[in-house]
Order: sequence, then structure tokens, then C-alpha cells
Amino acid sequence: MSNFALTPENYYSAEANMHYVSASQYKDFCGTTGQMGCEAAAMAKLRGEIEEVQTTALLVGSYVDAYFEGTLPMFVAQHPEIISSRGKTAGELKSEFKQASVMIDRAVKDQVFMRYMDGDKQVIMTGEVSGVPVKIKIDSTDGHRLTDLKTVRSVTETFYAKDLNQRLNFCEWWGYDIQGALYREVYRQNTGKLLPFYICAVSKDKTDGIPHPRIKVIEVPPRIMDEKLIEIERNIQNIQMIKTGEIEPLRCEVCDYCADTEVLDGPVSMDQIMGEI
Ligand SMILES: [Zn+2]
Repeated sequence: MSNFALTPENYYSAEANMHYVSASQYKDFCGTTGQMGCEAAAMAKLRGEIEEVQTTALLVGSYVDAYFEGTLPMFVAQHPEIISSRGKTAGELKSEFKQASVMIDRAVKDQVFMRYMDGDKQVIMTGEVSGVPVKIKIDSTDGHRLTDLKTVRSVTETFYAKDLNQRLNFCEWWGYDIQGALYREVYRQNTGKLLPFYICAVSKDKTDGIPHPRIKVIEVPPRIMDEKLIEIERNIQNIQMIKTGEIEPLRCEVCDYCADTEVLDGPVSMDQIMGEI
């Protein structure tokens, strides 16, 4: 495997994503606890065939990220669409981004939250899991712990995982345990230190239209990261073989990509039309 030097500029490039497996790419292929992955959709995404929609929710998350990275002025300059251009609010931030400002102000007021956000920002590292090149970008680390910042709908929200018949917290549902496991392992490979992993979460809760963000610093238990790393070690070579074309990606037949590209091969029995997931 040839070397591919990562920089902040090329970290998210198609070439970098072909060379390395990231936590989010892993989740695209293998899913999370409660959510299925889709190998066919993951490959289509790598080939640039899936249009990635920049939703307002994603942009709000990026706005909050930019503040903590210290790049908010640049972010605002690059995203004129977050400023209202009409009516009596013309020239002000649109309401979603005013809310994001309230969320930032709330987090900044808390010493514990800020202590866990302290340190070096956007630290890029590479490593190998089961011989497969992997990449990570740590939101914040002070050399004693790893932190990822998350903008979430709610910190107490739970999600029903049908196949497990149980409710999951947002960290499990969105696979932040997988992310933590990969970050912790790659950091260990680079430094020899096995560090704890935390999620600094700030929520979009509102009452009567007024933001009342909740903040939490959440530890992903080491025992869970141990389990997730074993899963990653088991699955990642399969991902690599799909990426190099040695094996064909499986279609989940449930996701939007599979729906968009499905070719009917005849009728199905009405007993078969209720999806399993
Ligand atoms: Zn699919």
C-alpha cells in the first residue's frame, strides 16, 4: 500500500477516501448498532455518484464546529446563505444560526464543557486496522483525552432498534462508540497512549420557539470501545476488498440508493412486501 499524506485540504477528498477507511465510511459500509449499512451505497458515495445534500441541520453543526475550531469568521464569509437577505431581519443571521449562537454561548459558559473542548483542534492521524489504512480527525485533544463535538437534536432522545427490540441512546444509534474505538486505537498507534474518548454534546432543544440547549460531556466506556474495535477488526478487510474491486458490494435493498437503482425482476408475493428493517 503506497503512502498517501493527508492534509486539512485533502482529508475529505475522493482520493483520501479511496485510500483510507474513516469512521464515517466504516459506518456507511457496516452500519451502527441499530442502523444498517449498505455496501452498494457506500461504494456509490466513494465514486461520487450520490449527491450529498447540504441540509440546514448539517450547516448548523458546521457553524458550531467552526466556532470551536476558531474559524467562525471564515465560515460566515464562505456561507452567505446563513445571513437573512429579506424583510426586517435582513443582514442578521437566519433563525437557525441565531439558535446556534445561543447553543455556543450556553456551552462556553460551562467550565467542564470548555475544559473537555480544550487542546489541539482537528488533529489528523493515520494508522492501520487489520492491515487496512485508516484515518481520523480528532476535534480536540490535550494529550490526556480525545473529544468529539456533536450538535444533536436532543441529548436524551432514544431510538428504537427493531432488530434488537430495544431503545438506544443517540451515541449508540449514530455509532459514536465506533468512532471512539477507531480514534482511540489510531491515537494509540501514533503515541503509545490509550486515552478516554468523550462526546461534548450541545442540543437544539427549544420551548415555545426559544432555544434552551442542553449540554453534556459523555464518556464512551472503554469496554464498549474494546468491543467495537473487535468488530472493526473483523469487518474492515471486507470493506477493503470491496473498495479494491476484489469482491462485489452487497445491496441492502432498503436504503434510498438501492431504491433509486432497483431493477424489478418480476412480481413478488404480497407476503414479502413488508420490509424487515
Ligand atoms: Zn442499500
